[in-house]
This record gives sequence, C-alpha cells and structure tokens, in this order.
Amino acid sequence: MKTPKYKPYTLKNLDSISQLKCLSDDERFAIQVVGRVLPFRVSNYVIDELIDWDKAPHDPIFCLTFPQRNMLKPDHFNEIARLLVRNASKEEVNEAANRIRQQLNPHPAGQLEQNVPTLNGQRLPGMQHKYKETVLFFPSQGQICHAYCTFCFRWPQFVGMDELKFAMREGELLLQYVKANSEVSDILFTGGDPLVMKAKTLATYIDPLIKGNLPNLKTIRIGTKSLSYWPYKFLTDPDADELLRLFERVTKSGIHLAFMAHVNHPRELQTAAAQQAIKRILATGAQIRTQAPLMRHINDDANTWADMWRKQVDLGMIPYYMFLTRDTGAQHYFNVPLVRSWEIYRDAYSKVSGICRTVRGPSMSAGPGKIQLAGIATIYGEKIMCLNFIQGRNSDWVHRPFFAEYDEHAVWIDQLKPAFGCESFFFENDSNPMVELSHTSLSAPAISLVPELGGYAE
Ligand SMILES: *Cc1c(COP(=O)(O)O)cnc(C)c1O
Ligand code: SF4
Repeated sequence: MKTPKYKPYTLKNLDSISQLKCLSDDERFAIQVVGRVLPFRVSNYVIDELIDWDKAPHDPIFCLTFPQRNMLKPDHFNEIARLLVRNASKEEVNEAANRIRQQLNPHPAGQLEQNVPTLNGQRLPGMQHKYKETVLFFPSQGQICHAYCTFCFRWPQFVGMDELKFAMREGELLLQYVKANSEVSDILFTGGDPLVMKAKTLATYIDPLIKGNLPNLKTIRIGTKSLSYWPYKFLTDPDADELLRLFERVTKSGIHLAFMAHVNHPRELQTAAAQQAIKRILATGAQIRTQAPLMRHINDDANTWADMWRKQVDLGMIPYYMFLTRDTGAQHYFNVPLVRSWEIYRDAYSKVSGICRTVRGPSMSAGPGKIQLAGIATIYGEKIMCLNFIQGRNSDWVHRPFFAEYDEHAVWIDQLKPAFGCESFFFENDSNPMVELSHTSLSAPAISLVPELGGYAE
C-alpha cells in the first residue's frame, strides 16, 4: 500500500486545492469569508477520496468540511466580505470576526464551568463528570482534529477563543480520580480528536490506567473522527502499528476498548482505506461504536441513515447514537426540527434489521441529560411529544417518559412547553439533582435546558 502523507489545508493554502476550480468565484470567496469566523481545516484524504466534486458545493462531505455562505447570517457575512474586498488589515478582520463570534452563542449555558470534578479540593479542568459511570478526559495534545466539521459545537476552541483551558496534561490525576471514585466504570478520551496524538503520547495516558489495575475501570472509550478524516492513522502512518499495539494492551488487560467513531455519511465508510482501518482496529479486540448528529445538508434523510447503519453493521461496527444539533455557531444552517428528526429516525429505524437497532436517538445533549424524542402521540385528541431521558444528571430520571405540547418547529428542549397544562417538566422541580455526584464542588446547579458542551463525537 502507498504511504500517503497527511496534509492539512486551511485558508492559507486554499488556492492550491485544484478541485476548487469547479466552484464559482463567489463560492470560493464565501469560503474565505466564513472561514475568517468559523474554523476551517481539511485533509488531503477528504479532498481526494471523500468529496464528490461533481456535486460540490452541495455534496454532503463538502458541506461537512467546507464553509458555505449561509453558515453566517447575511449581516455577518456582508460585514466580513466588505472588509476583505477593501483589503482591510488582519487586525481589523479579526476584530470584526471576534465580535461576530460572540453573537454565535460560543458557550451555551457557560458549561465550561459545569461538571468539572475535584480531587482533594483541587479542580480538574481537563475533565468532566456528569453521569456517574463515565468521566470525560480532554488530553491537552488532542484538542484539534485532522479536519474540522463545519457544524462542530467545539468551534470556539478551534478559533482560539478558549485556548486550552479545558484540557489536561496530567494522566496521573485522571488515574487518582478514577481510583477515588469507585462508581466510575468508563473513561472517555475526547477532544478535538485524541487520535491526532502520536501513539507514544496517547500511551502516556493509557498505560498508567492499565498498570493501575483499577477494579472499577471497565471501559476506555476514545471519541474520534480519524477513521473518516485520516484512516492512514491505522494503516501507514509511522506510528500506526504502535497505536494498534496500545489498543491490544488495553483489551488484553481485560479492559473493554470502545472506539467511538463519529460517522456522518455512508460514503465515509466506502473507501478501501477506511475499511482496512476498521479491520485492523477490530483485530485488536476493540469494538467500534458509531455516532453522529442529524444535519440538514449532510444527512437529513432516512435512507442515508438506514444505509449508514447497515453498512456499519456489515463492517463489524455497532450503531450507538443519533444526536440533534446544538444552538451554537452555524446551527441555523444545520438545524432539523425535533418532529422532523423523529420522523427521519423512525423511518430509518423501521427499514433496518434488529441487529442495527442498537442505535438510540434522536437525542439532545442538554443540561439535565440526554433527552430523546421518543415519539408523537395523540391522547384524547391532544397531539403531544413524548420525551425520555437516555442519560440524566440524576440517574433516577432515566426512562421516565414525560410529555410536551406538540410543536412542529421547535428545534430544542428549551422551546417546548409541558403538555396537559402542567407548569414545568418533572425534572425541573427536582431540588437536588446532583446527589449522586456529591463529590463535585458544585452545589445543586440551576437546571439548564440549553445545549451543553461534551458531545457529538463522544
Ligand atoms: C453522552 C455523554 C456521556 C456518555 O453517555 P453514554 O450514554 O454512557 O454513552 C458521558 N458524559 C457526558 C457529559 C455525555 O454527554
Ligand atoms: S465534531 Fe469532532 S471531529 Fe468534527 S470538528 Fe468537532 S471535535 Fe473535531
């Protein structure tokens, strides 16, 4: 097999992408404009093997990675466009871009501060602990990606608004934390993409966990998009074999290794490189589970999802989550209303065998937990939406159905009203939702229905 070398493209070397010649001048200019505000980076693999350039700019993988005019509201777009046309200074453009970014809800609900655990009174800002079984860990060297998804809710981090205040270098603290909290069975490495790290670096986090022999640690999960954006990580990169040997050390130690692959479109699974990478990962004893958000312009139809789930199962992967879009960045461009999302989910789910129906969704990662729209029903003539916690900040909320007034246009839980004239949803009255996470420094926080960080790729 040839050994391709990873090459990132950003606004700086955009003009060297020969395929972009198929776009109009306006479309190419739009990339420059939107890319000044939202992050843009794409790999040579995505350009050469995934995007169908005959269909660009409407191709789903093109939409997944390349900025489009309508990702910014017209006022914002025009402001940056005018600056670029008159060759404004870099500082002036950045200043305008930062002002616009502030208006794109960069930190839904200030969630950077919530769910941060403590150990012996010390805050651990590179971790999040919300659901008692699972801690999220953000290794500082894994906070970028091989390419950026245009819809990513972590965009503020990639444009330098958040720096790395949300990441940690200390694997030792992770080990101590899991040791001290026996209810934790899962560690989820997340980012960015932890698999942008060299195998050697990742091993400095994972090997101590293996050697630590923690009786409560059952599963290490790695949230990653590398299978779709750079599969050569597992094939021909200089550290590919070393990475797979690290995976083997995990599984041989008796810890379950769950490779949480972010897959948005079936085409990502069609290349020889991706399929070969899947085989090599599975051969280490790891399992691959798949998840993705439902996005207009990318995958908002039932056949795409049914096809994707079938293909995943064919290749030995396990469908896991279908998420809904969050209210940040370019979400107005990608949003699918809740009711429509449920129709797509149901339609896709009804087309596939039970073996594919391990998937759960459509799910909103909101402040109180992961909330699923379970369906639409009519009770005594009143049309309602049936909702359900897949995960709850309080684990007692899980799988207690609750009901909202039917609203065809709502895109998020905070836009829904309780059905049957109730004043609030049951969990909003729960006075102490953090009882089970009482080791955190937080007193019971206000329940927030807005979206929160910590999500799609996990
Ligand atoms: C989704 C999520 C998890 C994992 O939940 P599972 O249902 O176990 O996959 C853990 N922590 C946070 C903050 C999450 O959003
Ligand atoms: S969704 Fe995941 S892979 Fe895509 S840009 Fe965000 S963190 Fe990176």
